[in-house]
Amino acid sequence: MSERRLVIALDGPSGAGKSTAGRALAERLGYTFIDTGAMYRALALKALRARVAVDDGEALAALLVGTRIELSDAGRNVALDGEDVSAAIRTREVSDAASRVAAHRAVRRAMVARQQQMGRAGGVVMDGRDIGTAVFPQADVKFYVLADPARRAERRHRELQAAGQVADLEAIEQDVRERDRRDSTRAESPLVRAHDAVDVDTTELGPEQVVDQMLALVHSRIATAPVR
Ligand code: C5P
Repeated sequence: MSERRLVIALDGPSGAGKSTAGRALAERLGYTFIDTGAMYRALALKALRARVAVDDGEALAALLVGTRIELSDAGRNVALDGEDVSAAIRTREVSDAASRVAAHRAVRRAMVARQQQMGRAGGVVMDGRDIGTAVFPQADVKFYVLADPARRAERRHRELQAAGQVADLEAIEQDVRERDRRDSTRAESPLVRAHDAVDVDTTELGPEQVVDQMLALVHSRIATAPVR
């Protein structure tokens, strides 16, 4: 009998280390890593370019229809209508727009449907804010990844610097807090911890320790998960 291929949900605030851990976890398991934040970012970029208001949910949902968003190379490559936007979606401006775009019900409904389609065969690690609560409430394993806000801001700062963007640490910390506030207080699928999620606090852990902790739980679930 072939091994069960699980759906693994990774939720938590920005900069907690979800994508680093998720990508490594997927690689170790031979699973596909899906960064759902990149999908909201891609739509936000398209809206900014097309001058569609980020507070107009219906217009954004209409813009999304027929928009191709393709993720490859474990989420490192993101293509928007065939154009490589991997770097363009990581700016501060797009981060801010993405969390505004993601607040609309019509946008979320369409994104969630796409994500359910992408994960339905199992063998996926999906990273986001609502994976364990809305996209896959029946996920086999749910992690809630968190870290101290100052540490999360430091990580974002390093990522932006590595991408060649000028960034001021204090401003980044403010961005991170503002995005957390918006993501946690929105009416539609706010960022909340699923009741059956396992917390992973990455404040004091290195990436390898995080992945080892996750893998231990995943292996025990693979042994006991029902066959799909
Ligand atoms: O994860 P990342 O920071 O790239 O996500 C960008 C924004 O997209 C988040 O601030 C959040 O508002 C939104 N998002 C979401 N639901 C997801 C993934 C991301 O609302 N599943």
